Amino acid sequence: MFLDDKFPYGGGPSGPSCQACKRMILPSDRTKRVVFRNDPDGSQGLTGDYHLACSRRFESLAHVINLTPWCGF
Ligand SMILES: [Zn+2]
Repeated sequence: MFLDDKFPYGGGPSGPSCQACKRMILPSDRTKRVVFRNDPDGSQGLTGDYHLACSRRFESLAHVINLTPWCGF
């Protein structure tokens, strides 16, 4: 489902969800926003908010991508 952010989580109509595990980000969760240069608007499901624990491997991946002169994989 591309528009799963419209799925009713029981909270707001489009509560934030972790890009890695797709679970809702709770107000008490520590989060990290990871930005991928090849996905500036998050349409590929890469750029966005992650749980702090989930963000680590994506952050290192984003770091590589953002330093790579070509765009995409
Ligand atoms: Zn997560």
